[in-house]
Amino acid sequence: MHKIPFLDLKKINDRYRDELVEATTRVIDSGWYILGKEVDAFEEEFAAWTGAPHVVGLSNGLMALRLIFDAWIEQGKLQPGDGVIVPGNTFIASVLAITGAGLTPVFVDPDENTHNLTAEGIEKHLTSNVQAVMAVHLYGRICPMEQIVALCDKNGLLLIEDSAQAHGAEIKGIKTGCWGDAAAFSFYPGKNMGALGDAGAVTCKDSETARLIRSLANYGSSKKYEHVYRGGNDRLDEMQAACLRVKLPYMDADNKRRRKIAARYCAEINHPDIQLPQLPENGKEAVWHLFVVRTKMRDKLIEHMASHGVHCLVHYPIPPHHQQAYQQDFGHVSLPVSEQLAEEVVSLPISPVMTEEEVNYAIAALKNWSIQ
Ligand SMILES: *Cc1c(COP(=O)(O)O)cnc(C)c1O
Repeated sequence: MHKIPFLDLKKINDRYRDELVEATTRVIDSGWYILGKEVDAFEEEFAAWTGAPHVVGLSNGLMALRLIFDAWIEQGKLQPGDGVIVPGNTFIASVLAITGAGLTPVFVDPDENTHNLTAEGIEKHLTSNVQAVMAVHLYGRICPMEQIVALCDKNGLLLIEDSAQAHGAEIKGIKTGCWGDAAAFSFYPGKNMGALGDAGAVTCKDSETARLIRSLANYGSSKKYEHVYRGGNDRLDEMQAACLRVKLPYMDADNKRRRKIAARYCAEINHPDIQLPQLPENGKEAVWHLFVVRTKMRDKLIEHMASHGVHCLVHYPIPPHHQQAYQQDFGHVSLPVSEQLAEEVVSLPISPVMTEEEVNYAIAALKNWSIQ
């Protein structure tokens, strides 16, 4: 029996072992570990790759989201309590960033087929309190950004992208990170672009917002020992920046491999009890951070796959508004699509280091799943 892990991080990073050793050795030998040449160079390289005008390296994806809101509040673009539209089926970090900044999440159900927000869905929830929209490119698929940008422009709303799962997804040659007023990326090790620890970044259009976020992440200071804002310590460190610089040049090839596996899954899995994700018309719209199918018999499918050595996971079994942390404030909210998806979604293994043979094996295991 084969053993197919959900994600083999060692195998992912083994491909660059020599380069990572060289990069981390360079940092060790430099004697300079915080806010130095590696972070500067990474920010430039990531800006060139995404096409975004400004990049600020940060400690993780959650703080990248959070500091965008903190900066907008500092600039007077948002007021405490303002509503922020967020999909009901996202990872909880999207919501934690909103509530952590003293803002109010306004949950909206996603489209069932894409798992993402649509402009029509957002429009129905606009009220005078809503001042911003968070477009989460869930599972690596970019939201319909042309329509969402138009809607935000028409209504004077700020637009933030949660691009933690969608490094490199694009519409008409414009990548995530370039559509909204600002975007947050995570480089958590398991993301499409992963550091060897926690790391994140903000991309944004406006140099003043970038400057403010940079300062907020460095104790609210831009000049040593002078503190203009009540900031925090949320900096990207030199070690992680050096590792990310090694991995960035391979991102396009990795995403291409993920697309190939997703295309095979979609073409070859044909099972009456499994609903496949919709392949986007233009392949570049998705970078397949996760390959998520739906089934009414999720536990049985997971058990069947596990019995064949194929490890599947659920992203995510409990939607944020039903988490204990939000029970009191949002437990009463009804989000039928998010709630049903939470009961039916299953993520099959997908990663750039999965071999054709492993893909064959996972597909074969799925095909012989029969429900008694
Ligand atoms: C991973 C993730 C985050 C948070 O990123 P971290 O680096 O883990 O803090 C935010 N939003 C989404 C959708 C994510 O998947």
